[in-house]
Amino acid sequence: MTSSVSLPAKVETSVLTGSNKDLWLEILKKIQPQVQRGQFVTWFRDTAVLGRDGGKLIVGLPIPMGLNWHIEHYKGKTLVAAQECDSTIEQIVYRVDVGLKDNPERSIDLLIQFPEDKKRKLPGKQEVKMAEGIVSKILSPRYTIDNFIVGESNRLAHAACQAVSNQPGGKYNPLFLYGGVGLGKTHLLQATGNSILKNMPKATVVYTTSEDFTNEVVEAIRMQKMEKVRGRYRKVDILIIDDVQFLANKERTQEEFFHTFNTLYEEHKQIIISADRPPQELDLEDRLISRFERGMIADVSKPDYETRLAILVEKAKEYELFIEMNVLQFIAEHTTNSVRELEGILMQAVALYELEQRMPTIQSIAQIMKKLNKDPHLEEQDTGFEKKEKRRPTFQEVIEAVSRYYSVSVQDMIGPKRNRDILLPRQIAMLLGKKYLNMSYVGIGEVFSSRDHTTVMNAVSKIERKLLNDAQLLREVRAIEEEVGVV
Ligand code: ADP
Ligand code: MG
Repeated sequence: MTSSVSLPAKVETSVLTGSNKDLWLEILKKIQPQVQRGQFVTWFRDTAVLGRDGGKLIVGLPIPMGLNWHIEHYKGKTLVAAQECDSTIEQIVYRVDVGLKDNPERSIDLLIQFPEDKKRKLPGKQEVKMAEGIVSKILSPRYTIDNFIVGESNRLAHAACQAVSNQPGGKYNPLFLYGGVGLGKTHLLQATGNSILKNMPKATVVYTTSEDFTNEVVEAIRMQKMEKVRGRYRKVDILIIDDVQFLANKERTQEEFFHTFNTLYEEHKQIIISADRPPQELDLEDRLISRFERGMIADVSKPDYETRLAILVEKAKEYELFIEMNVLQFIAEHTTNSVRELEGILMQAVALYELEQRMPTIQSIAQIMKKLNKDPHLEEQDTGFEKKEKRRPTFQEVIEAVSRYYSVSVQDMIGPKRNRDILLPRQIAMLLGKKYLNMSYVGIGEVFSSRDHTTVMNAVSKIERKLLNDAQLLREVRAIEEEVGVV
């Protein structure tokens, strides 16, 4: 490494920027494996070696907030790493230099030098062809029974899942979980699947949604392969079907499911089902409903304050987000609808934190919530924001609301991808643009990566048709409409 230690610090700072940069890169390479990625990117972005002063290595930080954090968390590691690069370094001294921010000449671009290994994956989105040929979604390892926070609202459901994981096919068969959107049903279903697989690695665990199951049946009928698909499903050890309310009006699929259910049930294979409402309220064949009622039925409802706070603490940890307790408390107090909503606010806080290097504060969270229109009461409180006139949302706001609701990124929504997860939110956004913002098909198409106006027209009429006989979808769209304030 550089041998210019004897030069006075001033000269070195201005003349040897290049070697300072090399030195800092070497040091960062040693620190990086010891620090979680989120923390590393946040706290080391736009940092640099500013120079030397004898045995002192002067490290520049772009934001004042970083100072205490570095001293508390990284000083030791930085010194050790620095000494490995240059044994004459005796001490690390920090200096805040706001000029470092976004100045590629002076600092190292962490995102280029330390690219992310894997993209953060959305849970449960990929599909696998199982050996037996059934399409099952991969169980996301993100969902475990242990990282599910238990409170009054979900105690029974959680306990039932635990019992089923310990003894699949036992007395809780079928297990039927129900509750509103974003309250943890999918989490519990997947966690149970994961847990069973851990105990019984050879078991065939199939997790699917009722929509995917329907598609499979439709496809099998079309290809005249129903017999084969039927045979395969009946070899499954654990069948998990999410959101069975979507089987409404799909008689043929219900029939197939009924027979599969019976076969598995008689062989004491575990069946786990979720829906947005209890069995008797489902718009399904009576014989299916009576099957669902045979086993264990448990609901998940909205979590209380303590549970919400516990979930936030857990999620903040998961996302490596440092956030003050009073800020988490503030979010828990003001976000009462669903866990997904809690996560949504937290994700916004993560974005703020990653993009602007701003630690979330009560003020910034209040601002986020205000933007999301989450809590009208906030306006009356002393958060320093004035009451907003009710106005028509912009298309951008509509798209953002849909993206939050379905947890897909705005970029994916407006981009070229054609995954099923993205199609629906995209169609809904297009519909809302047409319905409430008076936009033309051409105008909407432009926003969505210059799609052709006929594509938009098809999308809109498709979703309109779906809404005619899909009560759940109607509720979802209604929730978004309420959120953006058009109804
Ligand atoms: P649902 O299937 O009921 O619509 P999800 O299972 O998708 O809801 O939950 C939405 C999000 O909230 C998921 O990211 C899930 O991990 C999280 N979540 C819900 N309940 C809890 C809980 N009790 N503890 C931890 N995370 C939860
Ligand atoms: Mg779900």
